[in-house]
Amino acid sequence: MKTSQYIWFNGELKPWQDATCHVMSHGLHYGSSVFEGIRCYHTEHGPAIFRLNDHIERLFESARIYRMGLHFNVGQIMQACRDVVRENGLKSAYLRPIAWRGVCGFGVAAPPNGPIDVAIAAIEFGAYLGEEGLRQGIDACVSSWNRAAPNTFPTAAKAGGNYLNSQLIAMEARANGFAEGIALASDGTLSEGSGENLFIVRKGVLYTPPAAASILVGITRDTVFELARDLGLKIVEQALPREMLYLADEIFMTGTAAEITPVRSVDRMPIGNGAGGPITAALQEKFFGLFDGRTADRWGWLDLVNAE
Ligand code: PMP
Repeated sequence: MKTSQYIWFNGELKPWQDATCHVMSHGLHYGSSVFEGIRCYHTEHGPAIFRLNDHIERLFESARIYRMGLHFNVGQIMQACRDVVRENGLKSAYLRPIAWRGVCGFGVAAPPNGPIDVAIAAIEFGAYLGEEGLRQGIDACVSSWNRAAPNTFPTAAKAGGNYLNSQLIAMEARANGFAEGIALASDGTLSEGSGENLFIVRKGVLYTPPAAASILVGITRDTVFELARDLGLKIVEQALPREMLYLADEIFMTGTAAEITPVRSVDRMPIGNGAGGPITAALQEKFFGLFDGRTADRWGWLDLVNAE
């Protein structure tokens, strides 16, 4: 894996190899960690972290759901993110802030004041589902694994334990020759990919499953809502039956890592012309335009690392 020089760890920058945690950490045994994935883009004003504030607020929301009190505030974690990009000399990066329960015994219910460690790594990162995937679309399948029902694991929390389900979805898809799996919610309606939200275009309308469909409510998903409104597109957020996949004119998946990735086939059925589509392309153009200046950032989404 790619590395970088420093990791921010509980308030200080440590050399990459020294940023380790104890084998008895609660988070390792019971999945009790909350985290974020954030991209920093190269712009004409230097590195800019995309929607940093929204990501760090979501980190704190995830922590709140699991009764984890961080010893830092939103502003401090945001500043630490900028510092870790700058001190590693990165022009663009993927950032991984993570907070986890430290050493506090074997009890599943961690003590209320048990230790919470926080770290932030930043590494260089390319296209998650491949450059070719971004341009030509990926082959996806419907997973045999469902997303967790809403009364099991709260999917609004981006928690480590949730990613066991994502691993099953992603590993099964890859073992069967697909780039990604699309999971159904526990009621059989469409949910999301292992690490991406799902959009379907049909007759010029944009459809996406709602928060109640066991999705992580993605920040890229919200970005697409805004950009789609600018393009005059209608957005419908509702429970969707599986067959909408096979009747779609276009499908794409969104996520910090995946950005806006077209899906060119599902279960070996080609979608539309089998190579993305015009609405996906228009949204990609607007999205990537945010970083090279073609799309004005009227939302204040770009957080400049070297602003001070
Ligand atoms: N769903 C899941 C399960 C994810 O892991 C991610 C990636 N964080 C997303 C959706 C997309 O979220 P975002 O756009 O905020 O990265």
